[in-house]
Amino acid sequence: MSDSILTRRNFIQRLTVVGAATIGASYLVACGGESGESGEAGEAGEAMALDCSDVSALSADQQATRTALQYVEASDVEGQNCTNCQQYQVPATEGGCGTCLVVPGTINPNGHCSSWAEKVS
Ligand code: SF4
Repeated sequence: MSDSILTRRNFIQRLTVVGAATIGASYLVACGGESGESGEAGEAGEAMALDCSDVSALSADQQATRTALQYVEASDVEGQNCTNCQQYQVPATEGGCGTCLVVPGTINPNGHCSSWAEKVS
């Protein structure tokens, strides 16, 4: 009888450990842990984390143009970003930096500048 109780107790203890491990793994995924980075939420995070600010390959004049047009990596203008701008050129590889007909260098899809013009399809 006492062996039976001990077995049940061990079983319940193991269930508790497995449950805690499952909850912990779910928390990691929800927070963008190992496997969460490739999900839809991860894609949005990727766009925000995308860095298209390297201007080392640009000439001084090109860098000056970029600055003069007030290009920023993340738009702070409601409803306006590079993806809905007429000048934006989508990247060859999905999820990468694009280019622009006006601003030299790589362009963040979430970026913005003073030359933004509504995209006409
Ligand atoms: S003109 Fe400005 S807002 Fe439009 S795609 Fe180029 S950098 Fe982005």
